[in-house]
Amino acid sequence: MSGGAIQLIKVSQSTMKKLIIANWKCNPATLKEAQKMFLALRGGLKNNSKAEAVVCPPFVYLAEAAKVFKNQSSVKIGAQNCFWEEKGAFTGEISPKMLKSLGVKYVILGHSERVMIMGETNEMTARKVNAVLKLGLTPIVCIGETAEERKQGKTSIILEKELKESLQGVAKNQMTKIVLAYEPLWAIGTGKACSVDEAVKAANVLRRTRKAPILYGGSVHSQNAAGYIAARLDSARQAGLDGLLIGGASLDPKEFLAIIKQIR
Ligand code: PEP
Repeated sequence: MSGGAIQLIKVSQSTMKKLIIANWKCNPATLKEAQKMFLALRGGLKNNSKAEAVVCPPFVYLAEAAKVFKNQSSVKIGAQNCFWEEKGAFTGEISPKMLKSLGVKYVILGHSERVMIMGETNEMTARKVNAVLKLGLTPIVCIGETAEERKQGKTSIILEKELKESLQGVAKNQMTKIVLAYEPLWAIGTGKACSVDEAVKAANVLRRTRKAPILYGGSVHSQNAAGYIAARLDSARQAGLDGLLIGGASLDPKEFLAIIKQIR
């Protein structure tokens, strides 16, 4: 067994709760609808000692989310992005300090939609990751290969490269304060979820040199979530997954709650 594999087991055993992230993206269109969704989740997210739910609505609904989930310790609030500076002349940007002041605990960074649509680079992600860590928030750093890279058998190389660039400047002892999300681009919003085996394999590539918890994201819903949740130490003594990042399915509170219920 390699030294990397020994590390894997330590990570898996020390991670008690599964982290289940709801990434609402640019939804819903009104505060009223968001309030309805928060309330539906609040009712259903009680007393699951095995799961930590993280609700990541658009920035403009964060204050309301913080209010609704104030007394619910198994639910945390997350943002979908942030800037790297604390404050200043950066029109349209939201800083980690602002997020912290609202009670936000997690920040999704480097999501493929920010990379592919907004043109964000891994270097920008790294600046954000460092800024978020500095304030004691937890970055959820998204990493994943394209369909073409996968076809060419380059997945491991791409993941390592992205990870190295996106975590530039992060001290080794900070690695446990980061959450990594394996999100193959070809699986996001396409309905083509990655197989559990392939997701675990990719997670183990990410884990080889870092002790961060690893999530899977890409077309997860209540009917396929169980496989990812159950993926733990297999016969080769490789670690499983520490949670899920859910986009589309998290917009239906019933679907999201059905996934959380599977974690016992
Ligand atoms: C995502 O937005 O990170 C995601 C995984 O989306 P979906 O679940 O819709 O594929």
